[in-house]
Amino acid sequence: MTSVLTVLGSCGAWPETGRACSGFLLEHEGYRVALDLGYRTAPRLFDLLGSPVAEGLDAVIITHRHPDHMIDLHTLFQARHNAGGSSGALPPLPVYATEGVRMTVRARRGDAPGRAVDSVFRWHELPGTYDLGPFRLTARRLPHVVPNAGVRLDSDSESNSVSVAYNGGCGPSPELVELVAGVDLFIAEASDRYQRVQVPASLQSEFHLDGHAAGDIATAAGARRMLMTHFWPGNDRQRTLADARRSFDGPIVLADEGLRLPLSGQAGRNDP
Ligand SMILES: [Zn+2]
Repeated sequence: MTSVLTVLGSCGAWPETGRACSGFLLEHEGYRVALDLGYRTAPRLFDLLGSPVAEGLDAVIITHRHPDHMIDLHTLFQARHNAGGSSGALPPLPVYATEGVRMTVRARRGDAPGRAVDSVFRWHELPGTYDLGPFRLTARRLPHVVPNAGVRLDSDSESNSVSVAYNGGCGPSPELVELVAGVDLFIAEASDRYQRVQVPASLQSEFHLDGHAAGDIATAAGARRMLMTHFWPGNDRQRTLADARRSFDGPIVLADEGLRLPLSGQAGRNDP
């Protein structure tokens, strides 16, 4: 059965024209999970699934409450709620999210206590570990401006195992290296705010990665390959790629809206 990761959006902060912010759809053994749903990702998800309410989606994972990672979870709520989600026509959709995400969706709903949000979605807190269909989900707190969970999804199916790790938004940290250890695919934010001269240096290294830092993490963790994403609008993505190649010699792919990346069962570089 096909295992594939589709890029819904590749921008950090806000979307460039024709693009969207952070979001991915991971499909494996018939199970479909969305990783983040930033600005403009929901319509792309609906198109991909061929459903205006994302029927066929089994779960959503949200790394943190910044809108470029989760605002279209509210779009998804609106779609499912108005299609009868809260009256039982659609089953509650499991959502795994860090603190603040649920409250953000409820606040946008605008009516206290926002019970509809709790009937359309079934909430689970991150960090933590969970079984999701064929996956074991491992989520760890990683350094960012707000609570952020880096996530890893492993499937041990002998015939077609996959392992994917995604850091959401965060700076370099030993915990990130541990999360990514031996993974087949490291989805790495590469905000690369160094390219935006107005950004203070203190913001660049602590809460976000650039190309070189992402490559350092991938190398230290023994990741097999890396998908770079969360590009700051206006950045030269080829420059970020060139920086990453200086610190990681495995395969590197730049995220692009609509890109479909087959997932293999190959182990990471540090695996026996
Ligand atoms: Zn963020």
